[in-house]
Amino acid sequence: MTTDEKNITDGMHLMVDALKMNGVETIYGVVGIPVTDLARHAQSVGIRYIGFRHEQSAGNAAAISGFLTKKPGICLTVSAPGFLNGLTALACATINGFPMIQISGSSDRNIIDLQQGDYEGLDQMNIAKPFAKAAYRINRPEDIATGVARAIRAALSGRPGGVYLDLTTAMLSTTIEADIAQKTLFTPIDPAPQQTPSQKAVERAIALLSQAKKPLAIIGKGAAYSRADEEVKNFIVNNNIPYLPMSMAKGLLPDDHALCAASARGFVLANADTVILLGARLNWLLEHGKGKKWNPDVKFIQFDIDATEIDSNRPIAAPVVGDLSSSLALMLEELKKKPLPQCAEWLAAIKKTKDANAAKMAEKLSSTALPMNYFSALKAVSDVLEKYKDIYLVNEGANTLDNTRNVINMYHPRLRLDCGTWGVMGIGMGYSIAAAVTGKRPVVAIEGDSAFGFSGMEIETICRYKLPVTIVVFNNNGIYRGTDKNLGCDGDPSPTTLTIGARYDKMIEAFGGTAFNAGTPEELHNALSKGIESGKPTLINCVIDPAVGVESGHIGNLNPKSCVK
Ligand code: ADP
Ligand code: MG
Repeated sequence: MTTDEKNITDGMHLMVDALKMNGVETIYGVVGIPVTDLARHAQSVGIRYIGFRHEQSAGNAAAISGFLTKKPGICLTVSAPGFLNGLTALACATINGFPMIQISGSSDRNIIDLQQGDYEGLDQMNIAKPFAKAAYRINRPEDIATGVARAIRAALSGRPGGVYLDLTTAMLSTTIEADIAQKTLFTPIDPAPQQTPSQKAVERAIALLSQAKKPLAIIGKGAAYSRADEEVKNFIVNNNIPYLPMSMAKGLLPDDHALCAASARGFVLANADTVILLGARLNWLLEHGKGKKWNPDVKFIQFDIDATEIDSNRPIAAPVVGDLSSSLALMLEELKKKPLPQCAEWLAAIKKTKDANAAKMAEKLSSTALPMNYFSALKAVSDVLEKYKDIYLVNEGANTLDNTRNVINMYHPRLRLDCGTWGVMGIGMGYSIAAAVTGKRPVVAIEGDSAFGFSGMEIETICRYKLPVTIVVFNNNGIYRGTDKNLGCDGDPSPTTLTIGARYDKMIEAFGGTAFNAGTPEELHNALSKGIESGKPTLINCVIDPAVGVESGHIGNLNPKSCVK
């Protein structure tokens, strides 16, 4: 594309050309100096631009679109404050292993480097470095294609992550002859190369697995990301290996599968003798693979694309480093030659625990208490979602997260999107928007009232783009619960208290969305069905008993112990 008849283009146009050539379909961002025209040009060449109200949500949208599409999600931010607002999402993408590129405009290098106080002047690239998998700056239009290629490769190869790409204002307006500029453009070949593990690693894993009497597979979001759906299914089902899905891996195999041990989590962790990690890290979410929840003699077989992940928390007996599809394909070949011994007793013991826990859960779900508690409300949600098994479920909060994860079954891969590795709050609306945009199917977001507040303004974005998102705010008047008292005497609400009886549904009316206030399971059931069926932006204020939440949900033990109560 040229800026005038003299066959001249500039950095901004060339940047858009490079993104287009690399298959970028959507940019999520917030415009302002110096990137407003970049977004305009992107639209003019057919790249969809989704404009947000806050960069963190735009970044979250880009990150989750990376997870969903296996291409880097693109977030566009303005300099300094906009850049910093996006950085939380970039860090989160890196921690979660989602491919994303945050492209930010930045101000004059000469002024920044001498710290002379430019408009929104900040040394952005160096600030981004510790939060990103890689950070690059493009100073000349002729380097754009290389910069974009490096960003794409860094985001996608090995363990995916967030990449920062800095575009200086001077570079964006530097002119270059269009013919010369076009010749610089290219797309990187094979940016996420297949990584096949060694035969020796596979044999070592099989030797260990052959001795297992109580095997357990743990499926993580790395497996979901890798699209090794068939291989994971064949490995587990053909060999009768019970499995635990990590939360964003739910649905790779259906949660109601006979081999799913999710409702016997404590029992299988305490008793498994051989654990096969399939794209799941032994981080805090798995108590680092040691301690009182684990069988002290357990041995691990770890499948991961990142060699440095192995032994990160405890010794791994059989590492298999490679991409999961290639690794499991090799395993399956070997296992055809020498099938594993069956573990009928182990499976029977798991079933017994599952049945006992299912009875306890059924009792909780049958609660008719009013105001609703988490379980009476989630029973209504679950009854509706059982009819819509192929839609997205976005979920964040503390109790709302824990209980929804346990109650709502998933049946298909990559439909459950949640707080992820950091347990971060604020992903709700960004994830919902990107899921609706890239997946072109309805989204239901189950949000704690506090969690919703972090990205709640994006309901305007949802309404503006007319996205099929139904938000259910589990409103218990506060963080964890709404009944805490101020321990002093100044009359302010307690630190965990939010507005008592807030009507979050009223917010979406301001932007033309559909609003419901649900005080009973029946009202919730009807409102949720209508929201999904309508395909229109809908917000349901779901009134939950303010007294029922547990401090920090299931992870209250992570709070520092205090001798003062
Ligand atoms: P979860 O939170 O679901 O347990 P984690 O994010 O902790 O999942 O772990 C995902 C792991 O998957 C990471 O260690 C990452 O390196 C790995 N991974 C990512 N992509 C692939 C892939 N294609 N093949 C194998 N492992 C992968
Ligand atoms: Mg709450």
